[in-house]
Amino acid sequence: MDKIVALCKRRGFLFQSSEIYGGINGFWDYGPMGVELKRNLKNAWWEDMIQAHNDLDVLPGAPEAYSMTGIDSTIIMHPQVWKCSGHYDLFHDMMQSCQHCKKLFRADHVAGLLTESEWVASLKKHVVEFSELKEMVQFEVAELQRWLEKKAKNVAPGLMAIHDVPGFIDRVRTTAAGGSVTAGDLLKLLGSPLGSPLALPCPACGGLLNAPREFNLMFSTYTGALQSEENLAFLRPETAQGIFVNFKNVMDSSRFSLPLGIAQIGKSFRNEITPRNFTFRSREFEQMEIEFFCHPAQSSEWYRYWRDRRMQWYQDLGISKDRLILREHEESELAHYSVGTADIEYAFPFLPKGEFGELEGIAHRGDFDLRSHMEGKLDEKARPLKVQLNENGQPKYRGSGKDLSYRDTITNEKYIPHVIEPSAGADRGTLAFICEAYHEDQAPDENGAMQTRVVMKFHPRLAPIKAAVFPLVKKDGMPELAKVIYLALKKNWVVFYDEKGAVGRRYRRQDEAGTPYCITVDGQTLQDRTVTIRDRDSLEQVRVPMDGIVEEIGRRMRG
Ligand code: ATP
Repeated sequence: MDKIVALCKRRGFLFQSSEIYGGINGFWDYGPMGVELKRNLKNAWWEDMIQAHNDLDVLPGAPEAYSMTGIDSTIIMHPQVWKCSGHYDLFHDMMQSCQHCKKLFRADHVAGLLTESEWVASLKKHVVEFSELKEMVQFEVAELQRWLEKKAKNVAPGLMAIHDVPGFIDRVRTTAAGGSVTAGDLLKLLGSPLGSPLALPCPACGGLLNAPREFNLMFSTYTGALQSEENLAFLRPETAQGIFVNFKNVMDSSRFSLPLGIAQIGKSFRNEITPRNFTFRSREFEQMEIEFFCHPAQSSEWYRYWRDRRMQWYQDLGISKDRLILREHEESELAHYSVGTADIEYAFPFLPKGEFGELEGIAHRGDFDLRSHMEGKLDEKARPLKVQLNENGQPKYRGSGKDLSYRDTITNEKYIPHVIEPSAGADRGTLAFICEAYHEDQAPDENGAMQTRVVMKFHPRLAPIKAAVFPLVKKDGMPELAKVIYLALKKNWVVFYDEKGAVGRRYRRQDEAGTPYCITVDGQTLQDRTVTIRDRDSLEQVRVPMDGIVEEIGRRMRG
């Protein structure tokens, strides 16, 4: 991964945001290569899913023919959108702060950041008082509970905080035989980072972490001049809600009928507690989302269709099947309205061997979102937004009140559509394609000696530069001919002209950028108007007529 990160900086794929001021955590800029790569990925997604979608035939695996279209909605929306979507009340992570260095961590990440030995060392350092447990051989669980509750209320400075005693006692009971537990078993339970009631040590400094608390991930801001609660607004944490709230507009303004997918690409913002792993977890990122509206009776079939289609898409663009998994969520992981969710996950090199990170989630969302925007949710415990108070200052707790159902003009049936949501991250996708493309192999240098070369094997559709044009030498009219080729190609693709240095070195530079084809004008070109095309992966060089070069590159690009 270190080599990939270094290459990204060196070749202008990715830079830390505001780097000259020391950077800002969780924000990344795309350089000249990165912007093309990411744009190509988004274009490939839009072309394959929306623009070139065949809406006349039944595609393999699909229950029937369907339409696709797109929208582009705003980042800041009416705050009630986030109330009805559930983000205002529920979109939070549990986080823990260190009492000593004040760093923040996502509670579910802490155990993974600690090695077992760090945790045991910390246990020994901080839990002096627990040594008294060692004196006892057998505990009554009820007695243990009383003892822990007393400790939890009255923790001496420097000792570990105690969290969630009832949860821990439940775990003890499942181990305890006949209501009592041995000292050995108890110490094992206390010593397990995942199940212990004791505060975990800080992964950064070894200090003690405070109890987990809720932390809403939405960035907030104010609209207008007054920074008052009435003007509170949020940066969207997903693009999906812009589609739901426009569902009726799209249906009313177009001649589409269901099944219909509405797509959107755009920025989303999440105030992630621990942004990390390069761009994988950023605070500002781009999503490519489809909300696919269909009849409830067909939604399970559509869910399977989209899950398999999206999995295949990554492979068609070059991700190896060995590094990709489709992980169906367990029933316990599913939201109450969902009959299925699957994640497409990639074996990112920064993860431990055998672990995968999410690239895209495909969720069956039932009619949850449209229904919420129609009716709202009556949740007495939820915090009201100021804008939701009625004239008497009472919470209104309601949705838009608009009818977001659909009437089938042929059957005349009226229903609230079900939704399948394939939700992909453009930045995580770009990072996965960068990781997948990175190769080191042996290739001859300009003197014929074998050297290690770094080559980014991007699919030609994704490659930031499609072709590079070189005059072999900077004289004899070669640059003039090379420029003619360069300008002709440039009308169609991003191409690069380079006349400086040894040609072998120019090839290497293009290999590192992932340019699939290098075109060289040499002495023979002057005689017969043919040029060489060098293939990045096979290193094969063939001569082709200079005058048909645009068609030749076009043919190769189409595969
Ligand atoms: P995670 O569990 O990794 O936080 P999530 O399940 O919350 O992700 P979704 O809400 O399903 O993610 O978002 C859809 C997609 O958006 C993800 O599959 C991912 O590609 C992308 N995404 C989500 N959060 C981030 C982030 N902080 N940085 C970059 N991409 C993200």
